[in-house]
Amino acid sequence: MLIPQSITTEKISYPLWENKGIEVSIKRLDQIHELASGNKFFKLKYNLEKAIRDGHDTILTFGGAYSNHIYASAAAAKSANLHSIGIIRGEETLPLNPTLAAASGHGMSIHYISREEYRKKTEVDFLLSLKEKFGNFYLIPEGGTNEEAIKGTKEILDENDGDFTHITTSIGTGGTFLGLASKINDSQTLLGFSSLKGDFIHHDINSQLEKYKISPKGNTQILDEYHFGGYGKVNSDLIDFVKWFYLEFDIALEPIYTGKMVYGLFDMIKQDQLPTGSKILILHTGGLQGMAGFNHRYGTSLPL
Ligand SMILES: *Cc1c(COP(=O)(O)O)cnc(C)c1O
Repeated sequence: MLIPQSITTEKISYPLWENKGIEVSIKRLDQIHELASGNKFFKLKYNLEKAIRDGHDTILTFGGAYSNHIYASAAAAKSANLHSIGIIRGEETLPLNPTLAAASGHGMSIHYISREEYRKKTEVDFLLSLKEKFGNFYLIPEGGTNEEAIKGTKEILDENDGDFTHITTSIGTGGTFLGLASKINDSQTLLGFSSLKGDFIHHDINSQLEKYKISPKGNTQILDEYHFGGYGKVNSDLIDFVKWFYLEFDIALEPIYTGKMVYGLFDMIKQDQLPTGSKILILHTGGLQGMAGFNHRYGTSLPL
């Protein structure tokens, strides 16, 4: 199995926040494991344990061609001595991009399906046809969110984090947010910044809270205005912010999830939306594996 490195929390200081009496720290989940970094480590942990317990020798999962989840699944499966199959949305492009090259290097068997077929990824008939094709496997859904993942992401916060007034995370499928929501104490507020466009996310998270029977002890809030046009979309403001953050704090963010979250948080602080005395914990959920591919696609030179 994956052996985690210890996770550090660093305080980052900036005059604007100090003037407002706000403290900001960042928990470096991005450093937890060189291969399965960030929240994906937590999301996969109990899934792999369950796969092995249930007697599987193969996992199968879905993702886009630059997916952090695909990358982490390949690495984690390898370290657990499991075969992995990645079903990738869209057509093959050669040479493989850095994400898929690394996944394949970790032994993941890569298969491409059309965007149309990809939409069937949760349908029973489609999943059965995959079992006919590949044999039996343990299924991990796209983005990795399920009961086991939530059990894992609950462990992101520990007893040292109880004094923070606000915890921030970015939201993709919401699995990380759900685990954190089940862990926060009654004096904490969880802020989730959606990296997807649309207010559907409020309903989506609420119905997942119900589905997994999570009733948070503290407050939860979803911010839906920092998506920068939608999933995977960026603009020069965001790119400049990520560069500024790196120069200022020597911490790399990626613009798909963490960059949008931290941008949103700083904007909220600037606009006095967080009270004096707030002690904020930013969760750096990782994702830096995607930067090489990102720079290549967008012609940027963001730090890795
Ligand atoms: C996958 C991912 C997220 C989103 O996690 P969910 O549990 O799907 O909401 C956030 N940040 C990074 C870096 C990720 O790779």
